Amino acid sequence: MKKERRKPDWAEPGLPGTFASSVVKGVEGGHDGVPGSSSGPAPDTPVSRRRGLTADDYVRGVREGDRTILARAITLIESNALSHAALAQEVLTELLPLTGNSVRIGITGVPGAGKSTFIEAIGLHLTHSGHRVAVLAVDPSSSLTRGSVLGDKTRMEKLARDSHCFIRPSPSGGTLGGVARKTRESMLLCEAAGYDVVIVETVGVGQSEITVRSMVDFFLLLLLTGAGDELQGIKKGVMELADAVVINKADGENKLRAEATRAEFAHALHFLTPPTQGWTTPALTCSAITGEGIARLWESVIAFCDQTRTSGVFLDRRRAQMLEWVHSMVDEHLHTLFYADPAIVELLPRLEHEVTQGTLTAASAVRKLISTFEQRPQRNQK
Ligand code: GDP
Repeated sequence: MKKERRKPDWAEPGLPGTFASSVVKGVEGGHDGVPGSSSGPAPDTPVSRRRGLTADDYVRGVREGDRTILARAITLIESNALSHAALAQEVLTELLPLTGNSVRIGITGVPGAGKSTFIEAIGLHLTHSGHRVAVLAVDPSSSLTRGSVLGDKTRMEKLARDSHCFIRPSPSGGTLGGVARKTRESMLLCEAAGYDVVIVETVGVGQSEITVRSMVDFFLLLLLTGAGDELQGIKKGVMELADAVVINKADGENKLRAEATRAEFAHALHFLTPPTQGWTTPALTCSAITGEGIARLWESVIAFCDQTRTSGVFLDRRRAQMLEWVHSMVDEHLHTLFYADPAIVELLPRLEHEVTQGTLTAASAVRKLISTFEQRPQRNQK
């Protein structure tokens, strides 16, 4: 079959040339192209792919839980085109009163720890007990690795087919801050669409755990048995972010070892300060394959929510997260503004050279850069 390609949605209209990514024409038939296996409890509204949606269309569609429109609204939010930003914010502002009614759960673990198998197991457990589950991801490396997190839909085949679940891979490319903003806003859209559990997955490398911790209520660290701490890349810092440490693959011959590992981590946790005031981080075991321990873990999440809602810690954290978000967006914006300024672009390489050659101190270089940047308004007025 000859593939039809067109420019991605986020491209500014009228831009010539080729794109690193392009959009392949969709498949015929139901979900994932399987004839007749259309997904969703209520059929999603047929939307003309040609027509651009208005803010009202997006708002109505998302409110009604229409997954096609939810997906398109997320695409709008992920767009880097300036012309989409105003519409995206209009939609978000309208939907804001409907957000916040979910439990936000972050999950991290090294590749191979079993994150996607685990999310599928807990996701199905939840949808079977009446919850609606959205799964998002933060993977700032995804433009390089072609999406190691949730990139491959077959990783959660059963869950992807569940009509009470919505899965969205990580927005690709950009800085961690940019990816995080998109995931946060996608999370709000999912809440407005009626998803009451939002799971945000990230790979256990680098800064992304801290970013995900800053957008969720409950943060879970998924671990393996037998691999040493170093092997699993677990730094004390990551353990200190966790509201639960879960040793996965506690099945078959591995079960006893998993229990021993759990005891070791339970011991280690005694010496750390838990991230959530009043909550003692438990060490648990589970098997994402057999499902053993999954219900117990969910009970722990419920207990966490009950306790922190009663104590006020839950809402306090959400408020603090909102403010942190505002500040991080300001940082991101100023950073972009600074490095995109033509005078800085011109000056920076020369100053960098002088600093590395030892002819200029770092502090003097910074002073020159900042004073050049501060003259921006005058320059722009000329
Ligand atoms: P991720 O990279 O962290 O998303 O890990 P995956 O979910 O892709 O799992 C990696 C491998 O571990 C796969 O082959 C899974 O089948 C296997 N796996 C995941 N969870 C379990 C489990 O609970 N028990 C066993 N025995 N294998 C598991």
